[in-house]
Amino acid sequence: MSQVATSEAERGTEVKSYKNYIGGSWVESKTGRTFNSVNPAHKDRVLGVMQASNAQDVDAAVGAAEKAFAGWRRTPAPARGEIILRAGLLIEQRKEELARLMTQEMGKVLKEARGDVQEAIDMGKYAAGFGRRPFGETVPSELRNKAALTRREPLGVIGCITPWNFPLAIPTWKIFPALMAGNTVVFKPASDTPIMATRLVEILEEAGLPGGVLNFVTGNAAEAGDPLVKDPRVAGISFTGSTTAGRQIAEYCGKTLKRLGLELGGKNAIVVLDDADVPLAVDGALWGAFGSSGQRCTAASRLIVQRKVEGDFTDLLQERAAKMKVGDGLLPDTDMGPVINEAALKKVHEYTEIGRREHARLVHGGDFAGSDGWFYRPTIFADGRKDMRMAQEEIFGPSTLVMPVGSLEEALEVANSTSYGLSLSIYTNDLRKAFHAMDELQSGIVYVNAPTIGAEIHLPFGGTKNTGNGHREAGMVALDEFTEWKTIYVDYSGRLQRAQIDTGE
Ligand code: NAP
Repeated sequence: MSQVATSEAERGTEVKSYKNYIGGSWVESKTGRTFNSVNPAHKDRVLGVMQASNAQDVDAAVGAAEKAFAGWRRTPAPARGEIILRAGLLIEQRKEELARLMTQEMGKVLKEARGDVQEAIDMGKYAAGFGRRPFGETVPSELRNKAALTRREPLGVIGCITPWNFPLAIPTWKIFPALMAGNTVVFKPASDTPIMATRLVEILEEAGLPGGVLNFVTGNAAEAGDPLVKDPRVAGISFTGSTTAGRQIAEYCGKTLKRLGLELGGKNAIVVLDDADVPLAVDGALWGAFGSSGQRCTAASRLIVQRKVEGDFTDLLQERAAKMKVGDGLLPDTDMGPVINEAALKKVHEYTEIGRREHARLVHGGDFAGSDGWFYRPTIFADGRKDMRMAQEEIFGPSTLVMPVGSLEEALEVANSTSYGLSLSIYTNDLRKAFHAMDELQSGIVYVNAPTIGAEIHLPFGGTKNTGNGHREAGMVALDEFTEWKTIYVDYSGRLQRAQIDTGE
């Protein structure tokens, strides 16, 4: 890590200030306060100065979104689609520049940052097509001379609250479908990645989005996030983040009957059966556990391995992890970047201590990997048991636990033994076992012979149990979170016809 990667943003001596975007104008927060966005690989480098917004700024943003709703709702959906498509194409044009900025602000290695940007491009192209797809059905009526149809209607103002780990992809997963459905949006991004969020808003403005349709406030959870959730003019909240925060938001939305989509934590597992291709499973485990430094909601933090192959699997995993280079994600030979901030680094290390106390066997890593940024070594524990905290709680860092099991049934039981249900995977060459696992695994996403990560945007994404509240993002079902169904009956018989009573003769 002695070699320092530089970039345009980092070479400049002047640190840029960024603003909120309200009613089509870039404005400063009414608080007059700011906070810094920093590079987790070089923690002393400030990348930008952001607005520390509060309830007053949120109030103005919601007001602008409310005002813009009538016009946007009536804008033909194909015209809305043109704007979203343009945004997707602008992101595509700037893919490399955005990916480099993402690596600096969030820390993931450049090739993964490019993947994150690609997801946003894909979502732009895909969601734009919602504008020319049927939004409802026309069905036969029980009665003569009567039409029956359904259509989707927007909710109104949607509050989109996003985490830092996919700083471009996740905002587009929410904002593009919400806008396509005819809603207006107030967007509050994670405080660790606000510059990436600003770039997305700038692109949507450049793509031709009318003022007020998308509004943007940076600031922390308590001062900016909470007022957004609690504003009575906000019809729906789309939240991705921790289960703890999701629960607090759900309590409020439950009481006020506000629409809420939650995408929360995970404790994902890869099952490796004794007939599996072990080197392939190790490839998957490394990618699943240490991709984005383990900071994916779908990260494989449990590796459930049948005893017959557990020794070979763990040895190979350790050997491969030992070769991983930890450092600045902009450097071409870096395999794993830093974690997002100091609190995250402390949390990962705390779980190393917990693992030791629980008598899991540390086979690799378990300590810090440099002082310039928030780096941690890829960490592997073995001899895991399902009652360990390490096996139950989300660590959200580069730490994984090998858990030996005897049979397929035991493997499935251990895989299902957490309170989360996002992504589970199985490696086997036995078709019958693979299909049995597909039936039994309790998660929103199941992979066969692939790791727990790697979603494609035209399929539903989300989890069961404490990972969410039944909503899914991406795919066509993304619209469910952002729309109400309206059922319409048109009686053109010229007389009273009573459903279930008149026969339709
Ligand atoms: P987080 O602390 O819950 O924060 C997420 C976002 O919500 C941030 O913008 C945060 O603001 C804001 N926020 C937090 N508490 C809030 C509250 N009570 N009211 C309103 N806003 C609030 O989560 P994180 O650390 O950023 O992200 C990591 C978590 O996200 C992990 O648990 C991960 O599994 C989960 N995640 C889930 C998915 C999925 O699709 N299931 C995808 C990605 C990540 P500040 O940044 O200002 O604190």
